[in-house]
Amino acid sequence: MKPCEVTVFGAGYVGLVTGACLADMGHRVEVLDVDRSKLETLAAGEVPFHEPGLADVIGRGVASGNLRFGHPDGLESCGEFVVVAVGTPPTTGGAADLRFVRSVVDLVAKRAAPGAVVIMKSTVPPGTGASLSETLSPVGVEYTSNPEFLREGSAVRDWFKADRIVLGGPEAAVERVAALYEGIDAPIVRCGIASAELIKYASNAFLATKISFANEIARLCDRLDADVDLVMHGVGLDPRIGPAFLKAGIGYGGSCFPKDTKALDYLSSLNGYDFHLLKAVIDVNKRMRLLPIMTLKDVLGDLRGKQIAVAGLTFKPNTDDIREAPALEIIDTLVADGAQVRGYDPVGVVDAGSSSFEQAATLAEAVRGANAVVIATEWPEIAHADWRELAAAMDEPRLVFDGRNCVDGDAVRAGGGNYVGVGRR
Ligand code: NAD
Repeated sequence: MKPCEVTVFGAGYVGLVTGACLADMGHRVEVLDVDRSKLETLAAGEVPFHEPGLADVIGRGVASGNLRFGHPDGLESCGEFVVVAVGTPPTTGGAADLRFVRSVVDLVAKRAAPGAVVIMKSTVPPGTGASLSETLSPVGVEYTSNPEFLREGSAVRDWFKADRIVLGGPEAAVERVAALYEGIDAPIVRCGIASAELIKYASNAFLATKISFANEIARLCDRLDADVDLVMHGVGLDPRIGPAFLKAGIGYGGSCFPKDTKALDYLSSLNGYDFHLLKAVIDVNKRMRLLPIMTLKDVLGDLRGKQIAVAGLTFKPNTDDIREAPALEIIDTLVADGAQVRGYDPVGVVDAGSSSFEQAATLAEAVRGANAVVIATEWPEIAHADWRELAAAMDEPRLVFDGRNCVDGDAVRAGGGNYVGVGRR
C-alpha cells in the first residue's frame, strides 16, 4: 500500500477515529477541528471523548509522526484525500443542517490541488453530493460519498473490521479511495453518489424500525402476559431476521438514529413521498420515552418532592455521548414535574441546568433513599449491580423501572422493591 497524504475535517467520533486509523495503516494524516479546546486536549496527549481503544491508536499515530492535529485557519494546502467528518445536526424542521459541511467544502475548493478527492463521511441527504460537486468540479477536485457505519463504543474495531465500505462517485475517484482502504477486508459497494447517500439513511432507518418493532411487540406483551425478551429471542433466531436491534426498551437515542430518521422523513416529504412506516417508527420511539414517566406517575402519583434516581445517562453503554439520550428527556420531565432527581453514569456527564438535578458519584449514592429508579442505559456496571441491596436501600414504594430490561427483577423483589420492565412479565 502506498502511503497517502490525508486531511481530515472534524476531530469528533467519526473524524478522529478515521484519522487515527488511517495513520495506523501508514498514511500521513492531519486532522483539523475548529474546536480549540479539543485541539488542546489532543496536544496534551488525551482523547477528548470516551472511546475504547482510541487512545492507543492515536498514541501510535502521533509517535510515528503519521498523525497531526491542527486548526483549519492554519491550512495552506490539503492532502490528496480530504475526509469530511463534521457534524450534520438536525434543524428545527428535521432537515440535516449542512452549514458545517458546506463551509468545509468551500475551504477545500480554495486549498486543495486539482486531482484531490473529497471523501464525504458526514451523513448527508441524497442530493447533497451532487450539489457539493458543483463547487469542487470547477477546481478539479473529485467528490465521493463514503458514509460511515462505525458505532460509538466499538468505533476502532468497527473501522478496521468494517462489514462493508460504500463508495459512491466517479469510477476513477472511487478506485483511488478503495486503494486508500487497502488492507481492510470488507466488501466494497460501488455505486452512484445518491445511492451511497441513501444507503446510510436506509440502514439507520431500518435499524430504528427493528427497535420500534420490538417495542410495539413489548407493549403487546404487557397486555398478553408474554415476555418480550423471550419473544424477540425466538424471533431473532430466524436468520432472515437476525437477533440484533430487537431489544425492547425506552427507545433509541444518540446523535444518529433520531436525526437520520427525521431527516429521511423530511427528505421523503420534500420529494413528494409520504414515508408512513418511518413516521410510525419515529412516533413509537417518542411514545417509549414517555413510558417511564407514565409508570412512575401510576405508581407514585404526584411526582412533586419525590426522590427519583436515573441510572445511566448516555444514549448507550461504552460511550460518554449524551446527545439525544433518553435520560435527558426523562430528567427534564421529572424536574418539570417537581421531582428531585439524582443521576448516575460511569462516564457521561449531564448538566440539567436545575438545582433539582444532581449527579451522584456512584450508583449506590444515586439510588439510596430514592422512591423510584429509572434505568435508562444498560451499562454492565448498572445491569450487574447488586439490585437486592440497592432496592433495600431505597425508600417506599421502591419502584425500579428497568427501561433496558437489563436487571434481574427477582433481585429487586428480594430487596423489597417493585420491578417493572418493558414488556416483561
Ligand atoms: P462530532 O460532533 O463528534 O464531531 C464533529 C466535529 O466537527 C466537531 O469536533 C466539530 O468541532 C468539528 N467541526 C465543525 N465544523 C468544522 C470545520 N469547519 N472544520 C473542522 N472541524 C469542524 O460528530 P460525529 O459524531 O463524529 O459525526 C460526524 C458525522 O458523521 C455526522 O454527519 C454524523 O451523522 C456521522 N456519523 C456519526 C456516527 C457516530 O456514531 N457518531 C456514525 C456514523 C456517521
